[in-house]
Amino acid sequence: MPLLLGCIADDFTGATDLANVLVRHGMRTVQYIGVPEMPTDLPEADAIVVALKSRTIPAEEAVLLAQAALNQLQAAGARQFFFKYGSTFDSTDEGNIGPVLEALLDALGSDFTVACPAAPENARTVYRGHLFVGRELLSDSGMRDHPLTPMRDANLVRVLARQMRGSVGLVAYDVVRRGAEAVRRRLDALRAEGHCCALLDALRDEHLMTLGAACSDLPLVTGGSGMALGLPENFRRRGLLSDSIDAVASLPHTDGQAAVLAGSCSKATRIQVASMRRTRPAYRVDPIRLGGDDVASEALSWARERLEEGPVLIYSSASPEEVAAVQARLGREQAGALTEQVLARIAQGLVDAGVRRLVVAGGETSGAVVSALGVRTLRIGPEIAPGVPWIITASSSVAHASSPLCLALKSGNFGAEDFFTHAFDLFDERE
Ligand code: ADP
Repeated sequence: MPLLLGCIADDFTGATDLANVLVRHGMRTVQYIGVPEMPTDLPEADAIVVALKSRTIPAEEAVLLAQAALNQLQAAGARQFFFKYGSTFDSTDEGNIGPVLEALLDALGSDFTVACPAAPENARTVYRGHLFVGRELLSDSGMRDHPLTPMRDANLVRVLARQMRGSVGLVAYDVVRRGAEAVRRRLDALRAEGHCCALLDALRDEHLMTLGAACSDLPLVTGGSGMALGLPENFRRRGLLSDSIDAVASLPHTDGQAAVLAGSCSKATRIQVASMRRTRPAYRVDPIRLGGDDVASEALSWARERLEEGPVLIYSSASPEEVAAVQARLGREQAGALTEQVLARIAQGLVDAGVRRLVVAGGETSGAVVSALGVRTLRIGPEIAPGVPWIITASSSVAHASSPLCLALKSGNFGAEDFFTHAFDLFDERE
C-alpha cells in the first residue's frame, strides 16, 4: 500500500500524540526524530510522522526544517500532508505556525488550508475562534505564564493572522454542527474571498470527524492531534486503508530500570511530581546552580544508588514564581536551554546505567532528551493517558539494540495525578 499521510510535528511529544491518534484509527505509523533520509529506508507504513523540535525557534529556521521534512515526505509518496502543533497553540506573535503553514502551502502549490488545535479529549475546545482550556479561555489558563510561549490572546483568528502574510477566516460552530458538506461550502467561500487559512471551531470529537471529512481534498491540513481524527476515515472510504489492522505495537519484556524526568512546569506535571514524591525517591534539579555545579553528575550518582529499588524521579518542575525568579537571573531562553541540557545529560546517564523505561514530562524537555539519546525511529505502543502512549524505540545510539528503550513523552499539561506510576504499571499488566 502506498504512503497516505505525511506529517510534520513541531515538537516531539506532539508528534507522538499525533502518531498515537493515527495508530488508534488503524494507520500503521512510523515516527522519525528529525528530518529523515526517506527513499533509502521506506518503512511499511500508512503514515509517517516527522518530529521536529521547532516550536520555539525563529520562524526562518522553522520554515527551513519544515520544508526539508516536506521534501522527504513528498519523496516517500505521501498523498496528503499534516502540520501538527500544540493543542494550546503554544505560539506567540513571534511564533512560527503561520510562517510554516504558508511555506508548506507554497511548496505544495496550494493556496488554502485549515487550522484547528482542538483536542476535546484533553478539554481543549475552539468556539468562535477562541481556544478554551477546560473552562478557561487560553489567555486565562496556565498557558498565560508558560516559560517559553506565554499565550495572552485566546482569539486564534487574530493570533494566526498576526503571524501570517495572508488573511485568516473562521468556520464557526453553527456551520460545523451542520456537517461536512456545510463546512466544505464554507471553506470554498472563504477561499474564494481570498483567505489562505480557515480557523475551525470544534467542541467534540464528532466535530473533528466532520472537519476531517470536509478536508479530504486539501493537500495540507494543520492542527492539533485532534484534527487528524477524521483523516484515516477519508482514506478508508476511498479503499486505500484496510480496517482490519492492529497498528499498536506491544510492550517488550524488559528487566530494565525505570525513571521519570520532569522538566515541565505546567500545572498537571507539578501535581504529578508532588504525587510521585510522596512514594518514590525524588531529586530536584535547581536551575540556579546549573551555570556552575555539575548537577548532572550529582543527580546521576544519586539515581544509581536507588534505581535497583524501583522508579526514581528527577525533576526541575517549579511554580510560576520560582520560574520567574530563575528567568530574572538567567534570562528566559538561557534558563530553559540550560535546564533542558542538564536533563538531557541525566537521561543519557540513566540509560547508560540500565534504565529502559523512561518517562519524560515536558514537550521541549522531551525534545532535548530524545535528541541526546540519539533516537531515530520509533513505534507507538499502549496508551498511558489520552494522547500519551509508551513508545518503543526501533533504533537509538545509546540503548543497546537487544534491549529496546521504552519512552513516554508527556506534554506538560497531560495526564492525571498518578500518571507517572500508572505508566510503569502497564508493564506489569501486559500479560
Ligand atoms: P511543557 O510541555 O509543560 O510546555 P516544556 O518542557 O515544553 O514543558 O517547557 C518547559 C521549559 O521550562 C523548558 O525549556 C525547561 O527547560 C524550562 N524549565 C524547567 N524547569 C525550570 C525552572 N525551574 N526554571 C526555569 N525554567 C525551567
